[in-house]
Amino acid sequence: MNKIGLVTGANKGIGFEIARQLGKAGFTVFVGARNAALGEEAAANLLAEKLEARSIELDLGRQETITSAASAIKSFAGHLDVLVNNAAIADPADGPPSTVDITAVERIMQTNFFGTLRVTQAMLPLLREAPAGRVVNLSSGLGSLTLNGDPKWDFAGFKLLGYNTSKAALNMLTIQLAYELRDTPIKVNAVNPGYTATDMNQKQGTQSVEEGAAEPVRLALLPADGPTGGFFETGGLLPW
Ligand code: NDP
Repeated sequence: MNKIGLVTGANKGIGFEIARQLGKAGFTVFVGARNAALGEEAAANLLAEKLEARSIELDLGRQETITSAASAIKSFAGHLDVLVNNAAIADPADGPPSTVDITAVERIMQTNFFGTLRVTQAMLPLLREAPAGRVVNLSSGLGSLTLNGDPKWDFAGFKLLGYNTSKAALNMLTIQLAYELRDTPIKVNAVNPGYTATDMNQKQGTQSVEEGAAEPVRLALLPADGPTGGFFETGGLLPW
């Protein structure tokens, strides 16, 4: 049987490309999408490339879709080899601490942090059933406390309290889950895909989705002697 992967928010952007590359690596890949029709369209595009893709409705804000996605994967394979927590939002009402719309911060945290935590908890029993489970959390350089604290950093002006906090919290989830699972074969890592042209930044990013997906896919396919509890980008480690 093929290895089984699940990518959240895989109907477009970096998530779609990660799903594509996992398919090319021989996985049966579940294309998570909150909009079932968009998920089916994305999976059909992968199938047209002769990749083993299946769409699965998964909305980080709706626990029932997360629970039923876990049940569907359990019925299909009994385990999950790779979980890529890719889905996330930015919000136009996000901004710096003194003026940000607090409801925007709450919305972002609900999806990017609480939603990712919900998916991770639901999928963990299936990851434990795999011989060598991998969890990849799509973080961001904007989630690095160290980089946020450097006024000379190239992205120092991006002080988006909601988004940056959500990714810093995701980094904490990465560290703590890797610690909890340290005596298992499961590896948990965070990754900055790099500034990538997608809808999230109105295609302003400077990388292609292929470049953005490269490091997440490397972490999804880590060998047994690979790292866990790290924060990576193409070219090396990032500071927390
Ligand atoms: P996109 O906006 O292109 O795609 C985001 C995906 O997440 C979409 O499929 C979207 O679905 C989905 N999504 C949003 N909310 C939910 C939800 N509640 N439930 C399920 N799915 C949801 O973003 P990118 O591809 O650029 O981003 C992918 C990841 O990479 C994100 O975690 C992002 O924070 C991170 N990242 C991106 C960078 C970049 O430069 N692009 C830089 C650093 C990090 P829908 O189509 O329905 O909206």
